[in-house]
Amino acid sequence: MNIQPEEKPSEIAAAEPYFIGSHSGASGAWVCGPPDVMPAEYRKQWEPIGVYNHMTTVKGLFTAGDGAGASSHKFSSGSHAEGRIAAKGAIAFILDNNALPKVDMGAVEELKKTILAPMDLYEQNVKYSSDPDINPAFMKPKMFMFRLQKIMDEYCGGVSSQFTTNKSLLERGMELLVMLKEDSSKMAAADLHELLRVWENTHRMWIAESHLRHVLFREESRWPGYYFRADFPDMDEKNWKCFVNSVYDPKTDQWTMKKVPIVNLPV
Ligand SMILES: Cc1cc2nc3c(=O)[nH]c(=O)nc-3n(C[C@H](O)[C@H](O)[C@H](O)COP(=O)(O)OP(=O)(O)OC[C@H]3O[C@@H](n4cnc5c(N)ncnc54)[C@H](O)[C@@H]3O)c2cc1C
Repeated sequence: MNIQPEEKPSEIAAAEPYFIGSHSGASGAWVCGPPDVMPAEYRKQWEPIGVYNHMTTVKGLFTAGDGAGASSHKFSSGSHAEGRIAAKGAIAFILDNNALPKVDMGAVEELKKTILAPMDLYEQNVKYSSDPDINPAFMKPKMFMFRLQKIMDEYCGGVSSQFTTNKSLLERGMELLVMLKEDSSKMAAADLHELLRVWENTHRMWIAESHLRHVLFREESRWPGYYFRADFPDMDEKNWKCFVNSVYDPKTDQWTMKKVPIVNLPV
């Protein structure tokens, strides 16, 4: 932008793509802490599946950095250090669980078909119109991306709404996301790059829904600057000094939200 920071301030958009894990909202997966110092309140959640540093609540799935929640400011070096911690946790898990898992090859074949379906959809329908980007039978991932971004921007506190939202906007945004989800199976890919984009967009769509549900559930403005709830503009230490966990159950298609206490160390 041709700006010398010592001469004039640069412009900063604080919220970037609205669900950046590292800088706002402590967003990310709920992971196991270090087994030696983890408070009992948190530890009990992992005891049934194994207490391994940085394992998520899914047995054997580890994450770190922007993937891990409960920390509002990660940055590059912290993510790197956390990656090493998670890798050590994962190796401890592998050593304790060193038998090959039983894999249902039928399920693998089904998954392959699902992953490649956007290419079939494209091939089967591309001739129906004179422009490969415009077709009654499918949507290209780029168009899907614009739609997702527009919903999150306008309804979930993006830059064009001055990082401000409220209950009514969020509820309308949720309705639009439901329609977007319905259309997600209509994404088509002309090549392998677009196939990658289809699945990236699908994953972003799920993260967007989770993010929106969290913003809706937390009735305060915990991270002013990243987003404001115009209907709850203040920080509410009494009711909301807590983490919020969400769980999606694919069997029932239901989300559950809950508050989780913050336990300060040393306990
Ligand atoms: C705009 C912006 C500015 C920032 N400024 C700073 C700064 O000034 N200083 C600082 O220290 N930090 C800054 N950060 C934060 C820092 O960049 C992040 O905290 C850090 O990069 C997170 O590292 P990570 O490894 O957890 O995630 P990432 O760096 O996001 O790495 C995740 C990787 O996984 C890949 N991936 C995703 N899905 C799949 C898949 N299905 N299969 C295979 N690969 C996949 C992605 O392509 C990506 O390479 C900034 C972040 C942003 C967005």
